[in-house]
Amino acid sequence: MQKNSLRELPSVDEVLRSDRLQKCADLYSIGLVTEIVRDILKKMRGKIIDGHTIDISPEKIEALANNYLEDMLKPSLKKVVNASGVVLHTNLGRAILCNEAIEAIKIAACHPVNLELNLEEGERGNRDGHLEDILCRLTGAEAATIVNNNAAALFLILNTLAEAKEVIISRGELVEIGGSFRIPEVIQKSGCKLIEVGTTNMTHLSDYISAVNPDTALLLKAHTSNYRIIGFTSNVDLKEVVKIGMQHSIPVVEDLGSGSLIDLSQFGLPSEPQVKKSIEAGADVVTFSGDKLLGGPQAGIIVGKENYIRRINKNPLKRALRVDKLTIAAMEATLKLYLKPDTLPAKLPTLRFLTRPVPEITLIAEEASRLLKQRLGKDYFVEVENGESKIGSGSLPEEIITTKVVSITHKQIPLKKIFDMFLKNNPPILGRVHKGKFLLDMRMIEKAEDVVIK
Ligand SMILES: *Cc1c(COP(=O)(O)O)cnc(C)c1O
Repeated sequence: MQKNSLRELPSVDEVLRSDRLQKCADLYSIGLVTEIVRDILKKMRGKIIDGHTIDISPEKIEALANNYLEDMLKPSLKKVVNASGVVLHTNLGRAILCNEAIEAIKIAACHPVNLELNLEEGERGNRDGHLEDILCRLTGAEAATIVNNNAAALFLILNTLAEAKEVIISRGELVEIGGSFRIPEVIQKSGCKLIEVGTTNMTHLSDYISAVNPDTALLLKAHTSNYRIIGFTSNVDLKEVVKIGMQHSIPVVEDLGSGSLIDLSQFGLPSEPQVKKSIEAGADVVTFSGDKLLGGPQAGIIVGKENYIRRINKNPLKRALRVDKLTIAAMEATLKLYLKPDTLPAKLPTLRFLTRPVPEITLIAEEASRLLKQRLGKDYFVEVENGESKIGSGSLPEEIITTKVVSITHKQIPLKKIFDMFLKNNPPILGRVHKGKFLLDMRMIEKAEDVVIK
């Protein structure tokens, strides 16, 4: 091929005259199409100047522009098949909402709603009011409020109750959650001074007592959701910390992380700390996530004593961290399911997945294995095996739930390649590589065909 020269490069106007791009301009806007053609020509000019030989035919430029525009219109947020075995996968958006929540979101999205309108008095209402009664009923707390997520909840509480003062926390509870949430940093950024007491494995009541001084504004307990300290250990019970708090009139706040509104052991699941129990134990304020075990939309729920919740709501930062109508709609519908706990495993996807009977998973796994064998051919080794699912999102990290997986290996093809092959499917299928095999966990799969690549 001959070297191309800059003079051969068509002008923007010439390219835009093509029928195909005229059609694009009808679909999008002539301004956008012009911009994109200009960018493509600029890149080509650069390549030519650098001495590269490239295809600069109007057809090529047209095709590039067309592909670019098509890609741009495709949604970036796509449905993904979760065969990872992690039920509450933070990278996949955590909890899947129940139908009731989806219906409630539709109403709030499509219509004006009484978000901040008191329909009885005809006056301005309070957006958190839609959730407060039910949250109090489910947790036994006096008052409740809600913000963007649990990180925001903790930040807001600390800033409201302890700004420029000291916050005492055990060294064994200085949690880091994936995605850069670190308790010490949240304490600092909320304008408080961190006072660590005890050691990593041992914190005693006396450590708290000797740290309390006139500058102490808050005693913080954090649930070590994603790790356990085992062996020679000792930690101080919430009840004991509450006693110190009462003696010195210092609020005790507990960050439960996931927390649960019910006793999960009734469904044969390992039990996560219950919000109700922390309130019973005397915590002044308790926070937990909306999209972890609760199974609702992303949110940080704050429950506790009325005077503290009132102060938290008055903090100007509350306005910056408040939730929107879609979250309130979804949260209300999700919480209402908890009024009838025995129906939760049927209605709340998070619990349905976590409690799915192994024989049901096995049926799907066997069908998926059969279809995958057909699809992949005899060079792949496909098998149904026992496996282990996880709750995820830091909940009960060492608790595993038995499941069935389809394992896939190939004599030559590396596991990472197989992993990528499934991830590149449309829709993407997220499996995992474990102990020399590529695994597809069937716990969350509704139809066997969902894990078969096209
Ligand atoms: C998950 C978690 C958080 C953060 O909650 P988000 O809702 O993700 O902001 C905070 N603290 C603990 C202990 C957690 O487990």
